[in-house]
Amino acid sequence: MDSGRLVEIAGAGPAGLSAAIAVVKAGGIARIYERRRDVGMRFHGDFQGIENWTTETDVLEELESVGIQANFEHTPFNEVTCFGPDGRGKQFHSKKPLFYLIQRGRGEGCLDSSLKKQTLSLGVDICFESSAKRFPQGGIVTMGPHRADAIAVGYLFKTEMENGAYVAISEQLAPKGYAYLLICNGQATIASCLFDDFHNEHQYLERSVEFFTNKLGFKMNKPRHFGGNGNFSLPKTARKGNILYAGEAAGFQDPLFGFGIRSALLTGASAGRASMLNQPEMYEHYWKQRVRPFYRSASTNRWLYNRLGNKGYTFVLKRYSNGRDVREFLQRAYAPKLWKSGWYYLTHWNKRDSLLTLREGCTCTWCKHKRKNIS
Ligand SMILES: Cc1cc2nc3c(=O)[nH]c(=O)nc-3n(C[C@H](O)[C@H](O)[C@H](O)COP(=O)(O)OP(=O)(O)OC[C@H]3O[C@@H](n4cnc5c(N)ncnc54)[C@H](O)[C@@H]3O)c2cc1C
Repeated sequence: MDSGRLVEIAGAGPAGLSAAIAVVKAGGIARIYERRRDVGMRFHGDFQGIENWTTETDVLEELESVGIQANFEHTPFNEVTCFGPDGRGKQFHSKKPLFYLIQRGRGEGCLDSSLKKQTLSLGVDICFESSAKRFPQGGIVTMGPHRADAIAVGYLFKTEMENGAYVAISEQLAPKGYAYLLICNGQATIASCLFDDFHNEHQYLERSVEFFTNKLGFKMNKPRHFGGNGNFSLPKTARKGNILYAGEAAGFQDPLFGFGIRSALLTGASAGRASMLNQPEMYEHYWKQRVRPFYRSASTNRWLYNRLGNKGYTFVLKRYSNGRDVREFLQRAYAPKLWKSGWYYLTHWNKRDSLLTLREGCTCTWCKHKRKNIS
Protein backbone atom coordinates (compact mmCIF):
# COMPACT_ATOMS: atom_id res chain seq x y z
CA MET A 1 0.00 0.00 0.00
CA ASP A 2 1.17 3.51 -0.89
CA SER A 3 0.98 4.91 2.67
CA GLY A 4 0.53 8.64 3.16
CA ARG A 5 -0.40 9.26 -0.46
CA LEU A 6 -2.25 12.58 -0.95
CA VAL A 7 -5.55 12.37 -2.86
CA GLU A 8 -7.16 15.63 -3.98
CA ILE A 9 -10.92 15.88 -4.35
CA ALA A 10 -13.04 18.59 -6.01
CA GLY A 11 -16.42 19.07 -4.30
CA ALA A 12 -17.56 18.50 -0.71
CA GLY A 13 -20.97 16.93 -1.32
CA PRO A 14 -21.82 13.38 -0.18
CA ALA A 15 -19.61 11.86 -2.92
CA GLY A 16 -16.57 14.04 -2.13
CA LEU A 17 -16.88 13.65 1.64
CA SER A 18 -17.27 9.87 1.42
CA ALA A 19 -14.30 9.73 -0.96
CA ALA A 20 -12.19 11.57 1.63
CA ILE A 21 -13.29 9.18 4.40
CA ALA A 22 -12.31 6.19 2.24
CA VAL A 23 -8.92 7.70 1.37
CA VAL A 24 -8.03 8.17 5.04
CA LYS A 25 -9.39 4.75 6.03
CA ALA A 26 -7.19 3.20 3.34
CA GLY A 27 -4.17 4.92 4.89
CA GLY A 28 -3.88 8.09 2.78
CA ILE A 29 -4.28 11.83 3.17
CA ALA A 30 -7.27 13.62 1.65
CA ARG A 31 -7.70 17.25 0.67
CA ILE A 32 -11.05 18.56 -0.56
CA TYR A 33 -11.57 21.77 -2.54
CA GLU A 34 -15.09 23.15 -2.11
CA ARG A 35 -16.08 26.24 -4.05
CA ARG A 36 -18.63 27.44 -1.49
CA ARG A 37 -17.97 28.64 2.06
CA ASP A 38 -19.36 25.49 3.71
CA VAL A 39 -20.75 22.06 2.88
CA GLY A 40 -24.42 21.57 1.91
CA MET A 41 -24.82 25.12 0.59
CA ARG A 42 -26.71 23.78 -2.43
CA PHE A 43 -29.49 22.85 -0.02
CA HIS A 44 -31.42 24.61 2.72
CA GLY A 45 -32.36 22.02 5.31
CA ASP A 46 -34.87 20.37 2.98
CA PHE A 47 -35.87 16.77 3.57
CA GLN A 48 -34.63 14.11 1.17
CA GLY A 49 -34.78 10.33 1.27
CA ILE A 50 -31.97 7.82 1.04
CA GLU A 51 -33.65 5.02 -0.87
CA ASN A 52 -33.64 1.59 0.72
CA TRP A 53 -35.41 -0.44 -1.91
CA THR A 54 -32.92 -1.29 -4.63
CA THR A 55 -31.24 -4.05 -2.64
CA GLU A 56 -32.31 -6.50 0.04
CA THR A 57 -29.37 -5.27 2.15
CA ASP A 58 -30.24 -2.21 4.20
CA VAL A 59 -28.57 0.92 2.80
CA LEU A 60 -27.13 1.92 6.20
CA GLU A 61 -25.43 -1.48 6.46
CA GLU A 62 -24.04 -1.08 2.97
CA LEU A 63 -22.69 2.37 3.87
CA GLU A 64 -21.11 1.03 7.03
CA SER A 65 -19.43 -1.71 5.01
CA VAL A 66 -17.61 0.99 3.01
CA GLY A 67 -16.64 2.95 6.12
CA ILE A 68 -19.42 5.56 6.29
CA GLN A 69 -21.16 5.90 9.64
CA ALA A 70 -24.78 7.02 9.78
CA ASN A 71 -23.94 9.84 12.23
CA PHE A 72 -26.56 12.06 10.54
CA GLU A 73 -30.15 12.24 11.77
CA HIS A 74 -32.22 9.71 9.87
CA THR A 75 -35.81 8.57 10.31
CA PRO A 76 -36.98 5.31 8.75
CA PHE A 77 -40.24 5.49 6.78
CA ASN A 78 -42.24 2.32 6.14
CA GLU A 79 -45.34 3.96 4.77
CA VAL A 80 -46.20 6.37 1.98
CA THR A 81 -49.54 7.69 0.72
CA CYS A 82 -49.71 8.09 -3.03
CA PHE A 83 -52.37 10.23 -4.75
CA GLY A 84 -53.19 9.51 -8.39
CA PRO A 85 -54.35 11.99 -11.04
CA ASP A 86 -57.97 11.40 -9.92
CA GLY A 87 -57.03 12.73 -6.47
CA ARG A 88 -57.59 9.40 -4.72
CA GLY A 89 -55.00 8.43 -2.13
CA LYS A 90 -53.68 4.92 -1.60
CA GLN A 91 -51.48 3.81 1.26
CA PHE A 92 -48.43 1.69 0.61
CA HIS A 93 -46.57 -0.16 3.37
CA SER A 94 -43.32 -2.06 3.72
CA LYS A 95 -42.00 -4.30 6.48
CA LYS A 96 -38.48 -2.92 6.24
CA PRO A 97 -37.79 0.83 5.88
CA LEU A 98 -38.59 2.04 2.38
CA PHE A 99 -36.30 5.03 2.79
CA TYR A 100 -34.49 7.02 5.47
CA LEU A 101 -35.55 10.63 5.76
CA ILE A 102 -32.60 12.97 6.18
CA GLN A 103 -32.00 16.72 5.94
CA ARG A 104 -29.60 18.38 3.54
CA GLY A 105 -27.54 21.43 4.36
CA ARG A 106 -25.05 22.81 6.85
CA GLY A 107 -27.32 22.65 9.92
CA GLU A 108 -26.76 20.32 12.88
CA GLY A 109 -27.69 16.71 12.09
CA CYS A 110 -27.91 17.25 8.31
CA LEU A 111 -26.28 14.68 6.03
CA ASP A 112 -23.70 17.14 4.71
CA SER A 113 -22.64 18.68 8.04
CA SER A 114 -22.48 15.24 9.71
CA LEU A 115 -20.28 13.80 6.96
CA LYS A 116 -18.12 16.90 7.27
CA LYS A 117 -17.72 16.12 11.00
CA GLN A 118 -16.61 12.57 10.12
CA THR A 119 -14.02 13.83 7.66
CA LEU A 120 -12.66 16.51 10.01
CA SER A 121 -12.33 13.97 12.83
CA LEU A 122 -10.18 11.91 10.44
CA GLY A 123 -7.95 14.90 9.78
CA VAL A 124 -9.17 15.70 6.26
CA ASP A 125 -8.27 19.17 5.03
CA ILE A 126 -11.28 20.95 3.47
CA CYS A 127 -10.34 24.11 1.55
CA PHE A 128 -13.50 26.18 1.32
CA GLU A 129 -14.08 28.84 -1.31
CA SER A 130 -11.59 27.24 -3.62
CA SER A 131 -11.90 25.12 -6.73
CA ALA A 132 -9.32 22.85 -8.25
CA LYS A 133 -9.16 23.25 -12.01
CA ARG A 134 -6.43 20.68 -12.67
CA PHE A 135 -5.29 17.46 -11.07
CA PRO A 136 -1.97 16.65 -12.82
CA GLN A 137 -1.27 13.87 -10.31
CA GLY A 138 -4.80 12.50 -10.55
CA GLY A 139 -7.67 13.01 -8.14
CA ILE A 140 -11.42 12.73 -7.74
CA VAL A 141 -14.09 14.99 -9.23
CA THR A 142 -17.37 15.14 -7.30
CA MET A 143 -18.68 18.55 -8.30
CA GLY A 144 -22.36 17.59 -8.60
CA PRO A 145 -24.70 18.19 -11.54
CA HIS A 146 -23.61 20.11 -14.60
CA ARG A 147 -26.97 20.46 -16.31
CA ALA A 148 -30.65 20.02 -15.55
CA ASP A 149 -32.39 16.84 -16.62
CA ALA A 150 -34.84 17.21 -13.74
CA ILE A 151 -35.59 20.03 -11.31
CA ALA A 152 -37.32 20.30 -7.95
CA VAL A 153 -38.92 23.46 -6.56
CA GLY A 154 -40.55 23.69 -3.19
CA TYR A 155 -41.01 25.19 0.25
CA LEU A 156 -39.75 24.27 3.68
CA PHE A 157 -42.12 25.15 6.50
CA LYS A 158 -43.06 24.50 10.09
CA THR A 159 -46.14 22.47 10.88
CA GLU A 160 -47.97 20.67 13.64
CA MET A 161 -48.90 17.75 11.39
CA GLU A 162 -47.82 14.23 12.27
CA ASN A 163 -44.86 12.64 10.54
CA GLY A 164 -45.76 11.35 7.10
CA ALA A 165 -44.74 10.94 3.48
CA TYR A 166 -47.12 11.82 0.64
CA VAL A 167 -46.62 11.65 -3.11
CA ALA A 168 -48.90 12.90 -5.90
CA ILE A 169 -48.56 11.72 -9.47
CA SER A 170 -50.25 13.87 -12.06
CA GLU A 171 -49.23 15.71 -15.22
CA GLN A 172 -51.00 18.79 -13.79
CA LEU A 173 -48.74 18.87 -10.71
CA ALA A 174 -45.39 17.62 -12.02
CA PRO A 175 -45.03 16.66 -15.69
CA LYS A 176 -43.37 13.23 -16.00
CA GLY A 177 -42.37 13.54 -12.34
CA TYR A 178 -44.13 13.73 -8.99
CA ALA A 179 -45.04 16.14 -6.22
CA TYR A 180 -44.18 15.26 -2.62
CA LEU A 181 -44.80 16.31 0.97
CA LEU A 182 -42.50 15.04 3.73
CA ILE A 183 -43.20 15.83 7.37
CA CYS A 184 -40.92 15.00 10.30
CA ASN A 185 -40.90 16.36 13.84
CA GLY A 186 -42.65 19.65 13.13
CA GLN A 187 -40.84 20.45 9.89
CA ALA A 188 -41.98 19.80 6.35
CA THR A 189 -40.82 19.94 2.75
CA ILE A 190 -43.30 20.26 -0.11
CA ALA A 191 -42.06 20.15 -3.69
CA SER A 192 -42.81 19.52 -7.30
CA CYS A 193 -40.18 17.43 -9.04
CA LEU A 194 -40.37 18.01 -12.81
CA PHE A 195 -38.90 16.00 -15.65
CA ASP A 196 -40.46 18.25 -18.30
CA ASP A 197 -41.73 21.83 -18.84
CA PHE A 198 -39.28 23.37 -16.35
CA HIS A 199 -40.16 26.93 -17.35
CA ASN A 200 -43.58 26.64 -15.72
CA GLU A 201 -42.08 25.45 -12.43
CA HIS A 202 -43.85 28.06 -10.28
CA GLN A 203 -47.32 27.18 -11.55
CA TYR A 204 -46.69 23.48 -10.87
CA LEU A 205 -45.42 24.23 -7.38
CA GLU A 206 -48.42 26.41 -6.52
CA ARG A 207 -50.76 23.70 -7.85
CA SER A 208 -48.97 21.08 -5.74
CA VAL A 209 -49.28 23.26 -2.62
CA GLU A 210 -52.98 23.76 -3.30
CA PHE A 211 -53.47 20.04 -3.90
CA PHE A 212 -51.81 18.90 -0.66
CA THR A 213 -53.34 21.66 1.48
CA ASN A 214 -56.83 20.76 0.20
CA LYS A 215 -56.24 17.06 0.80
CA LEU A 216 -54.63 17.28 4.21
CA GLY A 217 -55.91 20.61 5.53
CA PHE A 218 -52.77 22.35 6.78
CA LYS A 219 -51.23 25.78 6.63
CA MET A 220 -47.59 26.43 5.85
CA ASN A 221 -45.94 28.29 8.74
CA LYS A 222 -43.01 30.50 7.74
CA PRO A 223 -42.49 28.96 4.28
CA ARG A 224 -39.05 29.30 2.70
CA HIS A 225 -38.60 28.71 -1.00
CA PHE A 226 -35.97 26.31 -2.39
CA GLY A 227 -35.06 24.76 -5.72
CA GLY A 228 -32.42 22.61 -7.34
CA ASN A 229 -31.55 20.55 -10.36
CA GLY A 230 -30.11 17.15 -11.11
CA ASN A 231 -28.59 15.36 -14.04
CA PHE A 232 -28.24 11.73 -14.95
CA SER A 233 -26.37 9.90 -17.64
CA LEU A 234 -24.45 6.68 -17.82
CA PRO A 235 -20.85 7.35 -18.84
CA LYS A 236 -18.81 4.91 -20.89
CA THR A 237 -16.03 5.48 -18.42
CA ALA A 238 -15.91 7.44 -15.16
CA ARG A 239 -12.17 7.86 -15.46
CA LYS A 240 -9.92 10.28 -17.34
CA GLY A 241 -6.45 8.89 -16.76
CA ASN A 242 -5.98 9.07 -13.01
CA ILE A 243 -8.91 11.40 -12.49
CA LEU A 244 -12.03 9.58 -11.27
CA TYR A 245 -15.56 10.99 -11.49
CA ALA A 246 -18.06 10.03 -8.79
CA GLY A 247 -21.60 10.89 -7.70
CA GLU A 248 -23.68 13.21 -9.82
CA ALA A 249 -20.59 14.61 -11.55
CA ALA A 250 -20.40 11.22 -13.28
CA GLY A 251 -24.16 11.22 -13.92
CA PHE A 252 -24.85 8.54 -11.28
CA GLN A 253 -28.38 9.23 -10.22
CA ASP A 254 -31.59 7.23 -10.46
CA PRO A 255 -33.10 8.37 -13.78
CA LEU A 256 -36.58 7.22 -12.77
CA PHE A 257 -37.16 9.34 -9.65
CA GLY A 258 -33.91 11.28 -9.10
CA PHE A 259 -32.52 9.49 -6.04
CA GLY A 260 -28.77 10.06 -6.11
CA ILE A 261 -27.48 10.12 -2.53
CA ARG A 262 -26.89 6.40 -2.20
CA SER A 263 -24.87 6.12 -5.40
CA ALA A 264 -23.00 9.35 -4.58
CA LEU A 265 -21.88 7.91 -1.23
CA LEU A 266 -21.00 4.50 -2.64
CA THR A 267 -19.18 5.66 -5.77
CA GLY A 268 -17.38 8.36 -3.75
CA ALA A 269 -16.11 5.77 -1.26
CA SER A 270 -15.01 3.42 -4.03
CA ALA A 271 -13.24 6.21 -5.94
CA GLY A 272 -11.46 7.26 -2.74
CA ARG A 273 -10.17 3.78 -2.02
CA ALA A 274 -9.12 3.17 -5.64
CA SER A 275 -7.29 6.52 -5.82
CA MET A 276 -5.48 5.87 -2.57
CA LEU A 277 -4.38 2.44 -3.79
CA ASN A 278 -3.47 3.95 -7.16
CA GLN A 279 -5.69 1.40 -8.88
CA PRO A 280 -8.18 3.45 -10.91
CA GLU A 281 -9.35 0.36 -12.80
CA MET A 282 -10.68 -0.97 -9.47
CA TYR A 283 -13.15 1.95 -9.42
CA GLU A 284 -14.23 1.33 -13.01
CA HIS A 285 -14.90 -2.28 -12.12
CA TYR A 286 -16.88 -1.28 -9.03
CA TRP A 287 -19.35 1.14 -10.60
CA LYS A 288 -19.84 -1.05 -13.64
CA GLN A 289 -20.86 -3.93 -11.34
CA ARG A 290 -22.71 -2.05 -8.60
CA VAL A 291 -24.26 1.02 -10.29
CA ARG A 292 -24.58 0.39 -14.02
CA PRO A 293 -27.09 -2.51 -14.03
CA PHE A 294 -29.48 -0.58 -11.76
CA TYR A 295 -29.06 2.56 -13.84
CA ARG A 296 -30.01 0.74 -17.03
CA SER A 297 -33.04 -0.79 -15.39
CA ALA A 298 -34.17 2.58 -13.95
CA SER A 299 -33.56 4.24 -17.31
CA THR A 300 -35.87 1.75 -19.02
CA ASN A 301 -38.41 2.35 -16.26
CA ARG A 302 -38.18 6.07 -17.03
CA TRP A 303 -38.70 5.43 -20.71
CA LEU A 304 -41.92 3.65 -19.83
CA TYR A 305 -42.95 6.22 -17.18
CA ASN A 306 -42.55 9.05 -19.70
CA ARG A 307 -45.18 7.40 -21.83
CA LEU A 308 -47.79 6.70 -19.14
CA GLY A 309 -49.59 10.04 -18.80
CA ASN A 310 -52.48 10.45 -16.36
CA LYS A 311 -54.36 7.38 -17.63
CA GLY A 312 -51.27 5.21 -17.26
CA TYR A 313 -50.52 6.52 -13.73
CA THR A 314 -54.09 5.71 -12.66
CA PHE A 315 -53.84 2.23 -14.15
CA VAL A 316 -50.49 1.46 -12.49
CA LEU A 317 -51.62 2.73 -9.08
CA LYS A 318 -54.81 0.67 -9.26
CA ARG A 319 -52.95 -2.42 -10.39
CA TYR A 320 -50.29 -2.31 -7.69
CA SER A 321 -52.24 -1.03 -4.67
CA ASN A 322 -53.30 -4.48 -3.56
CA GLY A 323 -51.63 -4.57 -0.17
CA ARG A 324 -48.33 -5.95 -1.47
CA ASP A 325 -45.15 -4.79 0.24
CA VAL A 326 -44.13 -1.64 -1.65
CA ARG A 327 -40.42 -2.17 -0.94
CA GLU A 328 -40.57 -5.62 -2.52
CA PHE A 329 -42.49 -4.18 -5.48
CA LEU A 330 -39.89 -1.44 -6.05
CA GLN A 331 -37.04 -3.91 -5.60
CA ARG A 332 -38.49 -5.98 -8.44
CA ALA A 333 -39.10 -2.89 -10.56
CA TYR A 334 -35.48 -1.72 -10.20
CA ALA A 335 -33.90 -5.17 -10.45
CA PRO A 336 -31.48 -5.47 -13.39
CA LYS A 337 -33.03 -7.61 -16.13
CA LEU A 338 -31.75 -8.67 -19.49
CA TRP A 339 -34.67 -7.15 -21.42
CA LYS A 340 -34.24 -3.84 -19.62
CA SER A 341 -30.55 -3.73 -20.51
CA GLY A 342 -31.48 -4.61 -24.10
CA TRP A 343 -34.07 -1.84 -24.19
CA TYR A 344 -31.55 0.59 -22.72
CA TYR A 345 -29.13 -0.22 -25.58
CA LEU A 346 -31.86 0.20 -28.17
CA THR A 347 -32.88 3.61 -26.84
CA HIS A 348 -29.29 4.79 -26.35
CA TRP A 349 -27.53 3.31 -29.36
CA ASN A 350 -26.65 6.69 -30.83
CA LYS A 351 -25.36 7.92 -27.45
CA ARG A 352 -28.13 10.47 -27.05
CA ASP A 353 -30.57 10.10 -24.24
CA SER A 354 -33.64 9.68 -26.37
CA LEU A 355 -35.89 10.75 -23.50
CA LEU A 356 -34.28 14.09 -23.06
CA THR A 357 -32.98 15.25 -26.40
CA LEU A 358 -33.05 18.94 -27.17
CA ARG A 359 -36.46 19.87 -28.44
CA GLU A 360 -37.21 22.65 -30.87
CA GLY A 361 -38.37 25.85 -29.25
CA CYS A 362 -36.10 25.81 -26.21
CA THR A 363 -33.27 28.29 -26.41
CA CYS A 364 -32.21 28.39 -22.78
CA THR A 365 -28.74 27.33 -21.79
CA TRP A 366 -29.54 25.13 -18.82
CA CYS A 367 -32.37 22.82 -19.72
CA LYS A 368 -33.43 20.66 -22.64
CA HIS A 369 -37.11 21.41 -22.60
CA LYS A 370 -39.40 23.80 -24.36
CA ARG A 371 -41.98 25.97 -22.70
CA LYS A 372 -45.52 24.60 -22.77
CA ASN A 373 -48.71 26.63 -22.62
CA ILE A 374 -50.42 25.16 -19.60
CA SER A 375 -54.05 25.71 -18.79
C1 LIG B 1 -34.22 19.48 -4.61
C2 LIG B 1 -33.54 18.14 -4.70
C3 LIG B 1 -34.09 17.06 -4.04
C4 LIG B 1 -33.42 15.81 -4.08
N1 LIG B 1 -33.96 14.78 -3.39
C5 LIG B 1 -33.28 13.61 -3.33
C6 LIG B 1 -33.77 12.54 -2.53
O1 LIG B 1 -34.82 12.63 -1.89
N2 LIG B 1 -33.02 11.39 -2.48
C7 LIG B 1 -31.85 11.24 -3.19
O2 LIG B 1 -31.22 10.17 -3.10
N3 LIG B 1 -31.39 12.24 -3.96
C8 LIG B 1 -32.06 13.42 -4.04
N4 LIG B 1 -31.56 14.43 -4.80
C9 LIG B 1 -30.30 14.22 -5.51
C10 LIG B 1 -29.12 14.35 -4.53
O3 LIG B 1 -29.21 15.54 -3.83
C11 LIG B 1 -27.82 14.29 -5.30
O4 LIG B 1 -27.81 13.13 -6.11
C12 LIG B 1 -26.59 14.25 -4.40
O5 LIG B 1 -26.50 15.43 -3.64
C13 LIG B 1 -25.33 14.10 -5.25
O6 LIG B 1 -24.19 14.22 -4.43
P1 LIG B 1 -22.80 14.70 -5.04
O7 LIG B 1 -21.83 14.69 -3.94
O8 LIG B 1 -22.50 13.93 -6.27
O9 LIG B 1 -23.06 16.20 -5.54
P2 LIG B 1 -23.50 17.50 -4.70
O10 LIG B 1 -24.33 17.14 -3.54
O11 LIG B 1 -24.09 18.44 -5.71
O12 LIG B 1 -22.13 18.10 -4.19
C14 LIG B 1 -21.23 18.70 -5.08
C15 LIG B 1 -20.37 19.69 -4.32
O13 LIG B 1 -19.34 20.18 -5.20
C16 LIG B 1 -19.23 21.58 -5.06
N5 LIG B 1 -18.66 22.09 -6.29
C17 LIG B 1 -19.29 22.30 -7.49
N6 LIG B 1 -18.42 22.76 -8.40
C18 LIG B 1 -17.22 22.85 -7.78
C19 LIG B 1 -15.92 23.26 -8.21
N7 LIG B 1 -15.70 23.67 -9.45
N8 LIG B 1 -14.91 23.21 -7.31
C20 LIG B 1 -15.12 22.80 -6.03
N9 LIG B 1 -16.33 22.42 -5.57
C21 LIG B 1 -17.36 22.43 -6.43
C22 LIG B 1 -20.64 22.03 -4.76
O14 LIG B 1 -20.64 23.30 -4.13
C23 LIG B 1 -21.15 20.92 -3.86
O15 LIG B 1 -20.86 21.17 -2.51
C24 LIG B 1 -32.21 15.67 -4.81
C25 LIG B 1 -31.69 16.76 -5.51
C26 LIG B 1 -32.34 17.98 -5.46
C27 LIG B 1 -31.75 19.15 -6.22
